[in-house]
Amino acid sequence: MKILCVDDTKSVHAYLRSLFGGSAHELVHVFDGQQAIDALTAVGFKGFDMVLLDWEMPVKNGLQTMAEIRQNSADIAVIMVTSKNDMNDITKMLQAGASEYIMKPFTKDILFDKMSQVLGHEVK
Ligand SMILES: [Mg+2]
Repeated sequence: MKILCVDDTKSVHAYLRSLFGGSAHELVHVFDGQQAIDALTAVGFKGFDMVLLDWEMPVKNGLQTMAEIRQNSADIAVIMVTSKNDMNDITKMLQAGASEYIMKPFTKDILFDKMSQVLGHEVK
């Protein structure tokens, strides 16, 4: 599986790298929403199986990025990864088209369970 990891915090990328270490999955790392859109546009919004999308980022935040992804792809799986826990914010994410969301900080089990749920098959 090819996963686009979008977060402006380097330690989040390092953490994701550690969680997926030894797995067969390929991670691509970008640091803001515009870089995510550029990476997705380059492959016609079809080259990734999953996007893990931070909310709070410079240049283009997760909510704007989410909306732009959905303008181009109805079906790419996107999990918002956020420290926001306000129900209004969560509703906004889901209305913008997020497949699911997880709260920071998260464990490997939480992430893999959520990915499995979104994709409809077990992710290891
Ligand atoms: Mg952030």
